[in-house]
Amino acid sequence: MSVSKRIRFEVLRRDGYKCHYCHSREEKLTIDHVIPQALGGSDKPDNLVACCQACNIGKTSINPDEPLVAQVEKWAETFHYYLKAAQDGIKTDIEEENEYVRSIFDLWEQITDLGDGYRYPLPDTWAKTARYWHGIGVDVDIIEHAFRLSRERCELGKLRIGNAYNYAAGIVGNLMRDAMDSARAWTQDAIRQKGGGNAD
Ligand SMILES: [Zn+2]
Repeated sequence: MSVSKRIRFEVLRRDGYKCHYCHSREEKLTIDHVIPQALGGSDKPDNLVACCQACNIGKTSINPDEPLVAQVEKWAETFHYYLKAAQDGIKTDIEEENEYVRSIFDLWEQITDLGDGYRYPLPDTWAKTARYWHGIGVDVDIIEHAFRLSRERCELGKLRIGNAYNYAAGIVGNLMRDAMDSARAWTQDAIRQKGGGNAD
């Protein structure tokens, strides 16, 4: 356990050198985490109690005081509830990203459809690029526009279909750079007008 000597001494003194659970004054008192570390319990004194060895290994005949047990159980229950909620949040983000990437793929298939089941090839890095677009919040309409320009260029014989996706990615990059420049300028104006307040 990563409880320092100083905190150990502080806890023992606070608890009167007695086991918090059975009140024994055994010499070799240990320090017990009320909320287990595995459940996120801290190493701070408010989560630590003096504890005899028997109580620590759970072999004592005396039950730990019930309010404390109830409190720990309540904490654990609440902790697990929020842990689940936090994971659900991550899952939702992943699902949303997958959906976005999937829509980029569908768009590509749709725009570069050559009939008889053939489409322009996608480079190995296409999904990585799509996840990047998702990360910076590129509107799918902008990507659709870039895909269309890319196909047009291929049809004019000015671009090889093997380079079509990366060419489109270049267009997206340029458009987003323009969009970010505009957004930056507008944000500055908005803040200036409000005399240094927030843009919204
Ligand atoms: Zn004890």
